[in-house]
Amino acid sequence: MPRREAGGSGVEPPRAVDPPAAASGRNAVGAGRLCLVPTPIGNLEDITLRALRVLGEADLVVAEDTRRTGRLLAHHGIRARQISFHEHNEQRQLPRLLAELAAGRRVALVSDAGTPGISDPGFRALRAALEAGHAVEVLPGPTALVPALLGSGLPCDRFRFEGYLPRREGQRRGALAALAEEERSTVFYETPQRLARSLAVLAELLPDRPVAVAREMTKLHEEFWRGTAAELAAALAGRAIKGEMVLVVGGAGARPLPRRLP
Ligand code: SAM
Repeated sequence: MPRREAGGSGVEPPRAVDPPAAASGRNAVGAGRLCLVPTPIGNLEDITLRALRVLGEADLVVAEDTRRTGRLLAHHGIRARQISFHEHNEQRQLPRLLAELAAGRRVALVSDAGTPGISDPGFRALRAALEAGHAVEVLPGPTALVPALLGSGLPCDRFRFEGYLPRREGQRRGALAALAEEERSTVFYETPQRLARSLAVLAELLPDRPVAVAREMTKLHEEFWRGTAAELAAALAGRAIKGEMVLVVGGAGARPLPRRLP
C-alpha cells in the first residue's frame, strides 16, 4: 500500500474518514472539526475528490452564499444543512459556529469561490476554532492567486500577495509606489472597475515594469495580457473591462515579458 514517507512526496491512499484530532497532529482538545474547503473559481471540474467527500460527510456547511453553495452541492448530489457566514454576519454567526463545533459536529466552511480566508471570509472562524481547541483542517485546492502568478510568466520562486489594492486613490498610489524597490513578483486581486486606473498609476510610477493581467481564469473567456505597465495602461485606457481579474507586477529587475496586449 502506498504510504507517505517522512519529508517525501508519496501519496497517501484515500481515507474514508478523517483521522481523530490527536492523529491529525494538531493537539486538538475540542470535540468538533472545522474543515476549510476550497471550491472552483469558475470551472466546476476544479474540485477535489476530498473536498466532495468532506462536504458530503459534513454535519453542517457554513457558506458565504448558501444559494450559490447550494447549487454546487446539488450539482454533486450532496444534501447538507447550511448556514450563511459572510463579512456582514460573521460576528453574529461565530458563536453559532463554535456551538456546533462544541457539540462535536463536523463543519465544512466554504466561500463563494476559491480558498476560504484568501480575500474571503474564513480566517476568523479558523482562528476561533483553533483557540477553542477544535481540530482544524485546511484542504488544498483552487485559488486565483496561484494560476495567475504562474500564468503571468513572472518569477514565482518568491512572491508577495497583497489581496485587493486599497480603494482610496492616495493609498492605492502609495501601495503601488512601494513596488519601486520590491524585487519579488507581487499579486493583487483587482476589480474590473479599478484595473485601468491602477495600471495608469503604475504606468506613471513604473512605466517599464513587466505586468500581467489574468482574466476569467478557468472560464470560457480566460485570457492573460502581458506587457509593460505603460503598454497595458495604454491598451486599456477608456475601455470597459469585464470579468474577474488578477494583476501581477514583476519585481524590480524582472525580465520583460513576451507582449500580449488586450
Ligand atoms: N478566495 C478566492 C481565492 O482563493 O482566490 C478569492 C476571492 S476574492 C473575493 C475574488 C477575487 O479573486 C476577484 O476579484 C479576482 O481578483 C480574483 N478571482 C477570483 N476568481 C477569478 C478568476 N476566475 N479569474 C481571475 N481572477 C479571479
